[in-house]
Amino acid sequence: MVDGQQLYRDTWAEINVDAIVYNMREMCKLLPDETKAFAAVKANGYGHGAVQTARAVLKGGAHGLLVAFLDEALELRRAGLTAPILVLGYTRAEDAGVAAKEDISLTVYQYDWLQKAETFIPGESRLSVHIKCDTGMNRIGIKEPSELSLMEDFIEASSSYYFQGIYTHFATADQIEEQYYQQQLARFRAFLGMLKTLPPYVHAANSAATLYHHDSLFNAIRVGIALYGLSPSPEIKPYLPFEGREAFSLHTKIIHIKKLSAGETIGYGATYTAEENEWIATIPIGYADGWLRHLQGFQVIADDEWAPIVGRICMDQTMIKLPRYMPIGTNVTLIGEQCGKKISVDHVAEKLNTINYEVTCMISHRVPRIYL
Ligand SMILES: *Cc1c(COP(=O)(O)O)cnc(C)c1O
Repeated sequence: MVDGQQLYRDTWAEINVDAIVYNMREMCKLLPDETKAFAAVKANGYGHGAVQTARAVLKGGAHGLLVAFLDEALELRRAGLTAPILVLGYTRAEDAGVAAKEDISLTVYQYDWLQKAETFIPGESRLSVHIKCDTGMNRIGIKEPSELSLMEDFIEASSSYYFQGIYTHFATADQIEEQYYQQQLARFRAFLGMLKTLPPYVHAANSAATLYHHDSLFNAIRVGIALYGLSPSPEIKPYLPFEGREAFSLHTKIIHIKKLSAGETIGYGATYTAEENEWIATIPIGYADGWLRHLQGFQVIADDEWAPIVGRICMDQTMIKLPRYMPIGTNVTLIGEQCGKKISVDHVAEKLNTINYEVTCMISHRVPRIYL
């Protein structure tokens, strides 16, 4: 059952809520007293579920929540969450009133935007804003310290805005080589030096900067990946101050098994040929679930055995080769632990030539999340 709804397919993701609470607590222990943690629950909590993740991080000591766009913030408000929320991405000026009414803070980085949005903020309300400085990521943010002064003056003079924060974002904090990181940090300090008054929140550090560099904490941090028990990069993983507990696991069950004779092939394109008599099982998960075709050849855990994916992964189903007969209904773990064997999100990322962030995000909405 998920949200009171009966499920009829045996494929699901398990989210270990206690792991998220634990990771958040460990993160908070590293922070000076004056530094508050904002937790990134954008993209459906990196695929873990936005609302449940938000509740877990708040329990673990997070001060506020981070989302990518206004719709994600509203989802949290509708679920009854009253914690501070900051939208990290762009919001249309026309929608500033909605944010103000729901007490959602917005990221701003264009002087024109401030002028335009002011007309959409109802008289009695104020919109809290964080100014984003581009110190080298070249994604969004103001590039010139002179723009910052203009914006600060405009915000301070306006009864529609509250200057709540200023921040920047690092491009290379997950690398050991820190020259570019230090350059960005220096540029951010130069921006701060332009302000007449510092706003309540000054923030720069993501998970990598918080866990690895330690010198950019200011009085708030923005952490995401580490809360899910994953390392910001393989490179800094050996140096992390605590070992995160992975919160995401992915499971299914055998729905068919048969013995192939030598020479028979499997799946679309007949890309796999049995070399001898082989036990082949089918599991109900495929690329429409985010279990991508490139995972062909990857080993999953069936009961207590390793089982490679053989033949092409289909839209809804995948075939695996078993070392012995197993009955219908046998548990298969694709990410996580089973019978002492373990598949980390990082293993899947490595096979796909991508980062762990992408793996939990790509498991589609078709896979129900079960909260433990
Ligand atoms: C997603 C995001 C974060 C969190 O990054 P992690 O690497 O997951 O810790 C921080 N800041 C901004 C601007 C982001 O978009």
